[in-house]
Amino acid sequence: MTAPDAIAADYETLSVDLAGRAYDILIGNGLLARVGALSKPVLRQPRVIIVTDSTVAPLHLQTVEDSFRAAGVAVASIVVPAGEGSKRFDRLEALLDELLAARIERRTMLVALGGGVIGDLTGFAAAITLRGLDFIQIPTTLLAQVDSSVGGKTGINTRHGKNLVGAFHQPRLVLADTGVLDTLPRRELLAGYAEVVKYGLLGDAGFFDWLEANGAALLAGDTARRRHAVKVSCAAKAAIVARDEKETGDRALLNLGHTFGHALEAETGFGAMLLHGEGVAIGMVMAFDLSADLGLCPAADAGRARAHLKEVGLPVSPLDVAGRQHWSVDKLLGHMAKDKKVADGKITFILARGIGDAFITRDVDAQAVRDLLARSIE
Ligand code: NAD
Ligand code: MG
Repeated sequence: MTAPDAIAADYETLSVDLAGRAYDILIGNGLLARVGALSKPVLRQPRVIIVTDSTVAPLHLQTVEDSFRAAGVAVASIVVPAGEGSKRFDRLEALLDELLAARIERRTMLVALGGGVIGDLTGFAAAITLRGLDFIQIPTTLLAQVDSSVGGKTGINTRHGKNLVGAFHQPRLVLADTGVLDTLPRRELLAGYAEVVKYGLLGDAGFFDWLEANGAALLAGDTARRRHAVKVSCAAKAAIVARDEKETGDRALLNLGHTFGHALEAETGFGAMLLHGEGVAIGMVMAFDLSADLGLCPAADAGRARAHLKEVGLPVSPLDVAGRQHWSVDKLLGHMAKDKKVADGKITFILARGIGDAFITRDVDAQAVRDLLARSIE
């Protein structure tokens, strides 16, 4: 629960600049208790419907409801089961039914209170209900604060794969309260941290230096450092998204570590055996190792990437995945070839010339990839 002194705490504002649809990301400690007042300027009627999950609801829903009510805003809440299973068609349909039964209007604001699952599901519901509702993101995982709540991608999974049905729909406001991360399990916190490190590795060597020095304190709970890391991460993602909203070019840089990571996630069934961020951590190490193998990147930089991720407690090799069965090069390559980022049959790789200097290429020697995979799994 939010401490009284946190209520007076300050926050930082980041503006995401998309033509005609600019919105603010507010980052600070104790924002949950101030959401009513902070969101008033973007409400089109004094009414919101909060969507949250069964884990977050008992921890943080009351704070948010109270804050809206104190600001004179009528509140209703819908709680869906926690977990990736809520990004399914039947769950979406149930949510839409509940929204319509609550007589939602065009001007009613939806509020996504939760991790990436809630953000993606609620954002998609907002995109399609009554042909488009406004929504606010209140991301409660580190992953959601630095990644999924920024950029406007929303959607659900299908039996053909993850995130295959969705829409680009930008929120009206994002409130990232670093205080809510105190209730997040360490493993989830670390998985989100992998995406933080990604921003340093892909485009900001100075930020990576900062993370080497401050990452452990941030993960241990230091408020100022958390705020800084979330701000730099959101700014990095927002800048890339502003350049390339629909992913026709530069936005693919955000997939550093994701091609290898996705293959490992697919092979472990996208479940608790390997969290997405853990797959990304391993995948980033593999992308740097491949870059070094190809003579593109100093081996010392690949070593630094690996050392930092390992030091904070993230897995850095497929062999670190607890409970794994045996891996096979062909199976992993098969998953990589099925990734939705494949174009004209060629796998897109994000490689690096060094820390903070990633680039996109579809021209990678297939044998070098095979060799790396073989080395990584034996
Ligand atoms: P999640 O939403 O499932 O949250 C992880 C777990 O933490 C859940 O069990 C949740 O109930 C719990 N939780 C959330 N906040 C908590 C808190 N403050 N305290 C305690 N427990 C808490 O998963 P996630 O890692 O946040 O997000 C993953 C999802 O995000 C995936 O579906 C992925 O596809 C999506 N994603 C979307 C984008 C995008 O651009 N839209 C980007 C990255 C990921
Ligand atoms: Mg990711």
